[in-house]
Amino acid sequence: MLYYPKHYCGVFGIFGHPNAAELAYYGLYALQHRGQESAGIVTCHEGKFLKHHGMGLVSQVFNPRILRDLVGTMAVGHTRYSTTGSSQLRNAQPLTVECTRGQIAIAHNGNLTNSAQLRDELENHGLVFQTTVDSEIILMMLAQPSLNGAQNTLVQTLRRIEGAYSLVIMTEKEVIGARDPHGFRPLCLGRVDGAWVVASETVALDQIHAEFVREVAPGEIMVINDRGLVSLHAFPEHTRRAFCIFEYVYFARPDSTINGHSVYEVRKEMGRQLAREHPVNADLVVPVPDSGVCAALGYSEESGIPFEMAFIRNHYVGRSFLQPTQLIRDFDVRVKLNLIGSLVKDKRVVIVDDSIVRGTTCKARVKTLKEAGAREVHVVVSCPPHMNPCVYGIDFPDRSKLMAANYSRDEIRQYLNADSLYYLSRAGMVKATGQAAQAFCMACYDGHYPVPYDPVLDKHIIERRKRQAQTLGEAVEKDREQIKLLQV
Ligand code: AMP
Repeated sequence: MLYYPKHYCGVFGIFGHPNAAELAYYGLYALQHRGQESAGIVTCHEGKFLKHHGMGLVSQVFNPRILRDLVGTMAVGHTRYSTTGSSQLRNAQPLTVECTRGQIAIAHNGNLTNSAQLRDELENHGLVFQTTVDSEIILMMLAQPSLNGAQNTLVQTLRRIEGAYSLVIMTEKEVIGARDPHGFRPLCLGRVDGAWVVASETVALDQIHAEFVREVAPGEIMVINDRGLVSLHAFPEHTRRAFCIFEYVYFARPDSTINGHSVYEVRKEMGRQLAREHPVNADLVVPVPDSGVCAALGYSEESGIPFEMAFIRNHYVGRSFLQPTQLIRDFDVRVKLNLIGSLVKDKRVVIVDDSIVRGTTCKARVKTLKEAGAREVHVVVSCPPHMNPCVYGIDFPDRSKLMAANYSRDEIRQYLNADSLYYLSRAGMVKATGQAAQAFCMACYDGHYPVPYDPVLDKHIIERRKRQAQTLGEAVEKDREQIKLLQV
């Protein structure tokens, strides 16, 4: 199995506010959906960095006393989720470093596609990494001394890293927001009480009553300091845009606006489009909460079939630490979502979800509906089939576990035990965004990766480094034996 890095993240930065940490806390609260594994905030007070981070949700990591101690008028914050098996506190962001040009903190959303090569190169120059995250590579490169000043190092670093990044960087004097030239992940700019704010999504601005100013443009580097905001452009103007369309389908919060389009409206339009492409004779439209709600509303509106919230979500379900027994499977199915059986009994039901990845969730929902006496269950999905893994930061498994990459639509329908199964077309999905197809990365659907990624090269580098480590271990062992001989 090839290794694909997977990180979701939310980033936040603020410059020039007396309650910087508190606003960062509320901003991160609004970005919690982008990462639930760890959270952290770094502030800068009189040239000194103050940091707190921990594993868990924003509300679990911080309390009023911790926030009070995080004094300073600048802050950078991060929420992280990773599935690479590296869920450790040392990987929690923002990462910080102290170097010749002072302290630097970084919060990163996205995945680099040349991280193995860069890490290898930096290690060969004697640098030692403390974490396994891509962001540390950027931090190490930023910490390198440069004869031409810090901004030059920043531009050089961003020109060398490839893939997806929306970054918030803090130095002792400034907060910097930067977005990769393709603009894979969102990043926006706001103002509150005269302070500047940079955040992954507009919902974080709403949360702190900040006014939305504009998006950070793909390839733009925004440097914010006491003199104001300066915008640098370090990349060719005509770099292909590649915003992740899955942010509109599932990942971003529906109350965010991206590229001038309300995510809620786009999702609803995906549902309407789905109803135009795939009309079904049915009595009820039922969403899978929460991800399918907007599309189901659109489907119901367009088809005229009544909408019912037949599945009710329990909002207080945390992680379960039980073993994967039948009990835990039932826990997942019934405690997170409970069905109001009387609504669906003897009815022909259209169930709407945003995506089918492994198929597990959908299969469980169809089963619950049929057990409750639904006469027919038709599954409609508000995006096309997922055929390929994402290498730019969304957690999709490798191809072997992606249902649509291995089975035909009818085989999937049979697996789900559904009466019919329909996906939104690629053109329909794009149309619902109100933007041109060229604006998007749709690699998970069409296999066209806008920035090349070579997992075989990565694998080769990783194996070579393992061999080097082994040889080094053997040499150390030989040295020890020599020393022992000399001591005798
Ligand atoms: P499954 O088909 O069981 O793997 O899960 C699909 C469900 O997970 C859908 O209802 C989506 O809302 C949700 N989903 C889709 N993509 C992701 C993702 N990358 N991470 C977490 N959940 C996802």
